[in-house]
Amino acid sequence: MSQVRVRFAPSPTGMLHIGGARTALFNWLYARHTGGKFVLRIEDTDQARNTQEAVDVIFRGMRWLGLDWDEGPDGKGGTSGDRGPYFQSQRGDIYRRYLEKLKATGKTYEDGGALKFKMPKTPGVVKDLVCGEVTFDRTMEPDLVIQRKDGSPVFHFVNVVDDLEMGITHVIRGEDHLTNTHKHIALYEALGAAPPQFGHIPLILNRGGSKMSKRDEGAALGFYEEAGYLPAAVRNYLCLLGWSPGENQEILPVPDLIQRFDLPNINRSNARFDGDKLFWMNGEYWRTLTDAEFQKFADEYLRRTRPKVAQMDPDLLKRLLPLIREKVRTGREMAEWLDPYLGEEYEYSAEAKKKQLGAPEAGKWLEALSSALGAMGTGWDDSTIEGACKKVAEEAGAKPAKVIHLARAAVSGRTVGPSLFGLLTALGKERVLQRLERTRRQMAEGTLVTA
Ligand code: GLU
Repeated sequence: MSQVRVRFAPSPTGMLHIGGARTALFNWLYARHTGGKFVLRIEDTDQARNTQEAVDVIFRGMRWLGLDWDEGPDGKGGTSGDRGPYFQSQRGDIYRRYLEKLKATGKTYEDGGALKFKMPKTPGVVKDLVCGEVTFDRTMEPDLVIQRKDGSPVFHFVNVVDDLEMGITHVIRGEDHLTNTHKHIALYEALGAAPPQFGHIPLILNRGGSKMSKRDEGAALGFYEEAGYLPAAVRNYLCLLGWSPGENQEILPVPDLIQRFDLPNINRSNARFDGDKLFWMNGEYWRTLTDAEFQKFADEYLRRTRPKVAQMDPDLLKRLLPLIREKVRTGREMAEWLDPYLGEEYEYSAEAKKKQLGAPEAGKWLEALSSALGAMGTGWDDSTIEGACKKVAEEAGAKPAKVIHLARAAVSGRTVGPSLFGLLTALGKERVLQRLERTRRQMAEGTLVTA
C-alpha cells in the first residue's frame, strides 16, 4: 500500500468541539500508526467567520493535545501557526484550475450566475470503512452548486479538490458528513480521479442522548484546558469515544494508543460523552504523574490562572503543592485550594464563619492554640503539631477534631483543605501564628472578611 496520508480539515468556527478534536486525534493516530502523514487544512473559505482568533483556537487545541502535523505549503510541519498548515483561503488558484478542468468535462452549467455540477441520477454508493456500504438514492438529487454567484467556490468542491491535490488516501471524519460523501465521490469521478477511502466515525452524544452540540457544557476542548485537566487524560478519553482497544483496557499511554489504533476497531454505534468518566480518568493520570511532571503542569497552570503566585514564597509553594495534589484532581481545584495561601489577605468562607469561627469558645481556643504552638521550640513538624493541638483540646475538654477544624478555619478561612498538621508544618510557625492572630483580631473586631 502506498503511504497513508490523512488530514484534519476544521472550519474555524471559534471553538474546537470535542468531536472535532476526536477527529483530529483519530487521524493523527492513524498516521502515526501507519507511518503515514498527517495534514492540517484550515477550511476557511467562509470569509464572514474567518478570524485569526478562530484559527488560533484550533492551533491551541492541537498543541494542547500534542497533535503535530507533518507538512504545510512551505513543506514543513509543526504545531504552530508559523509553520504550515494549509489554508483554503490561500488556494484560490488551485480551485480555479480545477474549476476549469471540471467545466471542460461538460458536466457543469451556469444557473442564475452560479455554477452547478450535474449530479448523476444513478444510485450513489459509498463503501465506508466504518459504516459499510451505504447507497443513496439520487433520482431526486438536485444538481450541486460548486461556485456561487459571487465567484466563491463551495465547500464540497474545495474539499474534494484539496483531498485530491494533497494525495489524501483516507478521509476520516464525523458521520455528519456521510450524506455528503456520494456527492464528493461523483466529483472525483467527474475529475477522472480515484476517490480516497472513507471512514465516518460515530457521532458523540450528550447525556440526554442527542448529538452533542456547541452549547452543551464541556463541548469545547478549551473547557478542559481551562479547568486544568491533563491533556494526556483528555486525549486518552477522546480515543475511547468510538474506538475500543479491546481487552477491557482503558488507560493507554500514547505509544500504546499509536500501536493499537486501527480503523477496523472503530465502533459503528454512537458514543456517549460521559464527563464523570473523563473526570475519573483525569484523576488516574493525576495520580500517576511523576513529581517533575506535576511540577511542570502546576507551574504552567498557576502562572496562567493565578498570576499572584509569582509573588509567593517559592519554598512555601513547594511545600504546599504536594499536600494539595493528594486531595484534588484538576488544576482548577488545585488553584482554588491554593488560594488562601497566595497572600496573607485571605478571606473567610461563610461556612467557616458559621461553623467554626462563630462558635462561642472559638476565641478562647484560638488563644490557647496560639500559645501552645508559640511555645513550641525546635521540631515544628506534623507529629509535634499534632501533640500540641491535642493538648489544647484536652485542656479545653473538647474533641481534638473540634480544635483541628477551628485551626483550619483560622489559618485558611476554609472548612476543607489539606490535612491540618501537614498544612501547619508547610506554612511554618511564624506564618501560622500570624494567621491565628489575624483571625483572632478580626473576630474580636467583628470584621472577618467573608469570601
Ligand atoms: N470543514 C469540514 C468540517 O469542519 C470538514 C469536512 C471534512 O473533514 O471533510 O466539518
